[in-house]
Amino acid sequence: MKVHEYQARALMESAGIPVPPSEVIEVADDAAAAFQKLGGGKAVIKAQVHAGGRGKAGFVKLVDSSQEAVESAGWMLSNRMVSNQTGPDGIAVRKLLMAGAVDIAREYYLSVVLDRAKRVPVMMASAEGGVEIEEVAATNPDAIKKAWFHPHLGLQPFQAIGLAAAIGLRGAQAKAASKIMLQLGRLFLDKDCSLAEINPLIATPDGEILAIDAKFNFDDSADFRHKDVAAMFDPSEENPAELRAKEHNLSYIALDGNIGCLVNGAGLAMSTMDIIKLHGGEPANFLDVGGSVTPEGAVEAFRIILADDAVKAVLVNIFGGIARCDVIADALIKAAREIGFQIPVVVRLEGTNVEIARKMLAEANIEALKPAADLTDAARQVCAAV
Ligand code: GDP
Ligand code: MN
Repeated sequence: MKVHEYQARALMESAGIPVPPSEVIEVADDAAAAFQKLGGGKAVIKAQVHAGGRGKAGFVKLVDSSQEAVESAGWMLSNRMVSNQTGPDGIAVRKLLMAGAVDIAREYYLSVVLDRAKRVPVMMASAEGGVEIEEVAATNPDAIKKAWFHPHLGLQPFQAIGLAAAIGLRGAQAKAASKIMLQLGRLFLDKDCSLAEINPLIATPDGEILAIDAKFNFDDSADFRHKDVAAMFDPSEENPAELRAKEHNLSYIALDGNIGCLVNGAGLAMSTMDIIKLHGGEPANFLDVGGSVTPEGAVEAFRIILADDAVKAVLVNIFGGIARCDVIADALIKAAREIGFQIPVVVRLEGTNVEIARKMLAEANIEALKPAADLTDAARQVCAAV
């Protein structure tokens, strides 16, 4: 799960990380009052969306009057943001953060992620922070310093001090930065984050160290033990089809191709996508209906797949282990009657009650349903159909 920057700021503040004061607004006219509330000096307005690259896209703006604040806010709320992290259509902006602007002497980068190869969290720090960090990672990876730490013990003070020194900080600044590192490392563990990133962490000309942008992602499997984080969920930032799927306990991820996939089991769904690609096709989605799928769940899965106009054919690939083939056949027949299949639906069923299922499908006599002998045959048929 992702959260907005203003929510990440609240988490950082509660952890003691220094962050400039800020206000959240949803209508442009409120920008004037927010600007005054922040002292009426200089402020920065930032789109609150679940994507980065806002600075380069023009959705982070420095303003120094109420009028300018209202104008910038109006522009951001009425334009879609397109960055290298959104699709070409961009995303709508519904909320803005206005923060007291700070003078920046240097921008640093700080983050914690899970290092899957080493199987422990790693803190990364760089003196080359700011909007070009991806470029730094690609062209000058040595400029990113790392410290791996034990998931139960956490980042140790000596590691934080070492990292601060490695990115060139000295004296009081090194002390302040290493304190923030320890706080960020603790937040990552306490809140079951999958990413805790501050970019940039800045040094002001007076030598103060502050976090002025943050991005936090959370492990969904742990949301039951973090009610405060779960309450930050913003459905308007989610893909509507993925949301609907989630409500029905389906694991659905929208992709760019034109072959809809309905599969039980994540592993089988992955190999179904592989075999589609092997035969020259492109999957329109990943969809795992799970082992304990009900006919209602499977019908809903069809609704979600068929709601995508890009889908030109569907591949149903079910291995009935815990799930029963006759339940799926029942769902297929219901879906055909309730939704109607305007496009070919290739069906590969195997496993528990497959004979009953085949008989049910044959008797239903649905034109669009194309039985497949095995998975390779199914992939060939569906790729030929599109
Ligand atoms: P992102 O582009 O989505 O990562 O948004 P950021 O919040 O990181 O802002 C992008 C850039 O805008 C930063 O790297 C800074 O250079 C600049 N910026 C953001 N806030 C301030 C501020 O308060 N003062 C100044 N001078 N620059 C800022
Ligand atoms: Mn940033």
